[in-house]
Amino acid sequence: MSDQQRKPTTTDAGIPVPSDEHSLTIGPEGPVVLHDHYLIEQMANFNRERIPERQPHAKGGGGFGHFEVTADVSRYTMAKVFQPGTKTDVLARFSTVAGERGSPDTWRDPRGFALKFYTEDGNYDMVGNNTPVFFIRDPMKFQHFIRSQKRRADNNTRDHDMQWDFWTLSPESAHQVTWLMGDRGIPKTWRHMNGYSSHTYMWVNAQGEKFWVKYHFKTDQGNDFLTQAEADSLAGADGDYHNRDLFNSISQGDFPSWTLKVQVMPFADAETYRFNPFDLTKVWPHDDYPLQEVGKLTLNRNPTDYHTEIEQAAFEPNNIIPGVGPSPDKMLLARLFAYADAHRARLGVNYKQIPVNAPQCPVHSYSKDGAMRIQKVADPVYAPNSKGGPAACGEGYHQSETWPVKDEMVRSPYTQHRDDNDFVQANALINQVMDDAARERLVNNVVGHLSDGVSEPVLERAFEYWKQIDPAIGERIEAGIRNG
Ligand code: NDP
Repeated sequence: MSDQQRKPTTTDAGIPVPSDEHSLTIGPEGPVVLHDHYLIEQMANFNRERIPERQPHAKGGGGFGHFEVTADVSRYTMAKVFQPGTKTDVLARFSTVAGERGSPDTWRDPRGFALKFYTEDGNYDMVGNNTPVFFIRDPMKFQHFIRSQKRRADNNTRDHDMQWDFWTLSPESAHQVTWLMGDRGIPKTWRHMNGYSSHTYMWVNAQGEKFWVKYHFKTDQGNDFLTQAEADSLAGADGDYHNRDLFNSISQGDFPSWTLKVQVMPFADAETYRFNPFDLTKVWPHDDYPLQEVGKLTLNRNPTDYHTEIEQAAFEPNNIIPGVGPSPDKMLLARLFAYADAHRARLGVNYKQIPVNAPQCPVHSYSKDGAMRIQKVADPVYAPNSKGGPAACGEGYHQSETWPVKDEMVRSPYTQHRDDNDFVQANALINQVMDDAARERLVNNVVGHLSDGVSEPVLERAFEYWKQIDPAIGERIEAGIRNG
């Protein structure tokens, strides 16, 4: 490109600048003068480039695409995004949980699988993971769980001793820990993993009938994994391995896709089902509630500016549209507050005006002012009013945020259902899903993890924890450590 064709550098105010290379000085030897306002602007901007990273899920990447409905689930939900043939723009972000922004993509960890559907009824976010369950079922423990996965106070290092201390004192973690220590704990790439809502949500159809639903985004690339040795090597050689893979695939036209399937439970089944259907540490076995196809998610466009399109993307499970609602999952109900609060803290109160977070439908909100508000507010600024301001239409939405409740206020675990048990589904994963080779890798992964700084009495508790999941696996893990 000739010098004539290049655009002139300007300040942020659009003023052409005299030099990209030389600051304004008194003579070639300096000093530098304070009225070089372009130099000052560059230094000041640079000092402020980093924004607070997400607390969990700091390291991630993503892309844009669409979701197309391929089946008819209108008998379960009136959500426009799920009506036959509907095609909706989508943003997806994948992430690790515990690592900071520069941490390796290939650490053993669940992966975030967050989606924003830009629907005509507003943004619908499914803030899921690549795993169908979670480590805990009460939000009171969430902050402590994440702290146990992050860094110690004294030497600022991650510490397997505190991870196993927390897990073995929280037996409800057994299913998720088994999943994490198995092959799917390190996906080969983000393209080679499933995404799950994990939580149970409510669907409401046009007749007002309610259903409970779990989402499964099944990878069309096939599930694949990295061994611990492969992941360790990649962590040193290419910490951005998963980011790079997704970006390169999309830019080469090899667009990854996932088929959305749902499990649907009739509303009344929830009370009598053998597992508590709202317990985030449990799946609904497929034999009980088979998968039903809904549509296809395809990613076909990379971000051009990571900061404004991915780092500032704000996913929040409270972004729920008419036809979809929450469920009495205590973790979900707490997340409905926590995510939006995190975005206000990290991005400011008007984060929904950042283009990647802005809905593609009209917004008629009574929110007003605040730092970095960009969209103009019009009178009247209050409701109710007789001045022609927006008025809530209510009914359709109301149906999908309610369920009957009549009880005392308590601090209590969930009411037990017949087959509820912290270890039964972890055992099923080991014995009904894994083969011998996968079980061998599971044992080796756990032995490797426990060998790295876990001390008594945590170690002894870890053997007991695994023996409760499966006695034979527990014995093998103990032998691997004691004889190893
Ligand atoms: P099914 O035999 O019907 O399904 C087994 C499930 O396990 C499939 O969804 C499969 O995913 C997934 N899977 C395969 N290998 C692994 C692995 N190494 N780690 C984690 N998941 C894996 O079984 P059930 O529905 O009766 O459930 C049995 C156990 O399977 C559960 O206790 C749970 O641990 C696990 N599971 C169940 C899921 C569910 O929603 N029911 C979802 C995921 C796991 P895919 O088909 O995509 O390969």
